[in-house]
Amino acid sequence: MSEGPAGGSVTGPGEHPADALARAARALRQSLLFERAFGRDVAITWPPRAPLQEAPPAAVSPLPVDLDAERLRRLALLDPLRQEVLCCTACVLCQQRTQAVFGVGDPCARLLFVGEGPGEEEDRQGEPFVGKAGQLLTRMIQAMGLERRDVYIANIVKCRPPGNRNPEPREVISCMPYLRRQIEVIRPQVICALGNVATRSLLETPTSISRLRGHFAEALGIPVMPTFHPSYLLRNPEDKRLAWMDLRKLMDFLGLHDPRSPGGGPGEDR
Ligand code: URA
Repeated sequence: MSEGPAGGSVTGPGEHPADALARAARALRQSLLFERAFGRDVAITWPPRAPLQEAPPAAVSPLPVDLDAERLRRLALLDPLRQEVLCCTACVLCQQRTQAVFGVGDPCARLLFVGEGPGEEEDRQGEPFVGKAGQLLTRMIQAMGLERRDVYIANIVKCRPPGNRNPEPREVISCMPYLRRQIEVIRPQVICALGNVATRSLLETPTSISRLRGHFAEALGIPVMPTFHPSYLLRNPEDKRLAWMDLRKLMDFLGLHDPRSPGGGPGEDR
């Protein structure tokens, strides 16, 4: 039995000390990776890379060769939908909004982020995730080696719930068809559901994000990776480490390389 610094056991039941050491090294490496991803510069070269587990097979047809033409085609499909959303009066959320917030990004994006609903700043600017939580989401996207323009960002409800309360179930129900139609046009290879409302609404489950995060699920035939909402991460920074693990699974799924990793290979942490 090995002992930790405070005299407690560091090996799990039946665990070989070498395995416990490897596990501890992985945990340390994971948190260093997270720190580097969200802002600090830390050189990490060990342990060797290995693919993450649990990713479903990529199941989406490849994008057409003429991407620009396809982009225009999809924009033309999204535009009337955007007009509908901007004029929507289907639920009470229309009464206090400054404007509806449709979504933003590349209509040919392989990765779609889905949040809960606009906050104060989003309601003012008409763009999702532009407040404090949005700034963190932008850093998360950049840590994946992407920019906001490379992905698509949308919300479950398109109008700000007053006082940033959670949207009511009937508000989610009346707004979901818009997101569904966005997804049908964009056809992303994978969706990242941010937080409880997005995850529960997409997966139609009452299970909480802390149980669902980190595991691929499926909605509308598309793999969904639930992770913590950036607002939650701002309040609970110790869980950013877990969110980074989830993003790493998405990166593996999409074959993305860590931009700051020596050699740049995917899946370097497990
Ligand atoms: N939180 C969300 O869920 N969506 C936004 O657009 C902004 C904050």
